[in-house]
Amino acid sequence: QGQKRRRPMAASRRNSRLIRVGAVAVGGDSPVSIQSMTNTDTRDAAATLNQIRALHRLGCQIIRVAVPDPAAAAAIRAIRAESPIPVVADIHFDYRLALAAMENGADAIRLNPGNLNDEGGLEQVAALAVERGIPIRVGANSGSVRTALVRRYQSRGMSRDEAVAEALVDSALEQCRLLESFGVTQIKAALKSSSVPVTVAAYRKFAARTDYPLHIGVTEAGTPARGVIKSAVGIGTLLMEGIGDTLRVSLTGDPAEEVIAGRRILEACGLRDAMPEIISCPTCGRTEIDLIGLAEKVEELVADIKESGHDIKLRKVAVMGCAVNGPGEARDADLGVAGSRNGKLVIFKFGKVVGAFDPDAGFEYFKLEILKNSTRTGED
Ligand code: SF4
Repeated sequence: QGQKRRRPMAASRRNSRLIRVGAVAVGGDSPVSIQSMTNTDTRDAAATLNQIRALHRLGCQIIRVAVPDPAAAAAIRAIRAESPIPVVADIHFDYRLALAAMENGADAIRLNPGNLNDEGGLEQVAALAVERGIPIRVGANSGSVRTALVRRYQSRGMSRDEAVAEALVDSALEQCRLLESFGVTQIKAALKSSSVPVTVAAYRKFAARTDYPLHIGVTEAGTPARGVIKSAVGIGTLLMEGIGDTLRVSLTGDPAEEVIAGRRILEACGLRDAMPEIISCPTCGRTEIDLIGLAEKVEELVADIKESGHDIKLRKVAVMGCAVNGPGEARDADLGVAGSRNGKLVIFKFGKVVGAFDPDAGFEYFKLEILKNSTRTGED
């Protein structure tokens, strides 16, 4: 936080409306924020807070919690009191849960106006949100768009994917308009599909038609191995087009992986400093050192330090296999290593050779240098 939102090189940023989710600015000129969702029982406030703290240490900036019943809505009070990041209450069906979550301090609510069980309920929810300045995130999901709408677009010659994307846009716009009719202006929208092409098409269309900030992601993307790739392609495409104000990588797995993947996507799009950027070669028949093991150890070391709330002052760390590209990249980095023909690690620091080390001693040297260049940043 605090850093200015950077513009991706590929496209100018969509000019979205600025809203506030607790202390986090979303849209306008704010940096793209990383969200995740707890998978603890929200009624267990202590367990939920533990998970929120762990996710925050990894870089999560806004957290969503499921609110399926009144006890979960009540637990928001204790969670909100100690959460280091804003808490979004995820509501379905029962508008009274949205009211209770807001009364208990939720920084935002996420709901689908279409699935609330009481028509007058939405008006009450909207009135309280406006009174308290609480934003509402609406979301259309390809799993719940109206079949008739999809068919209508298909009958006009669109493919099924195009028709679903159109239906997602219509459904999200309808939800926004409904909230607007009750005076809500602090709206954030999401248009989710588990298909990358549909997701990207829907966000593009919606982005062109409104200035609402967008929460982007590919929903139900799957287990980490597949889901991270789908999310990186979908979210990355949108970010490079200047679309997206907050993101969630949605994975069937530990939410910690969602946050780490979200951070890496922002880093890869040039929207967040990697601190340090770690570059490593793919290895080939010339590699005579355990480069993969070494690169993994360096990645883990950096991740561990970051997880403990440290900032790493090194800008670029290079882990390279041999003398072909190794010395060039390693010399260009703040800290670099290149394998040599006799299995040694040639270490470079700020462009100068430090020496040739045996693998264990070389890693220890690397580790000390990274630790030496780490400072504790504390809470942010
Ligand atoms: Fe192969 Fe050397 Fe290039 Fe690594 S740096 S991919 S080991 S040629």
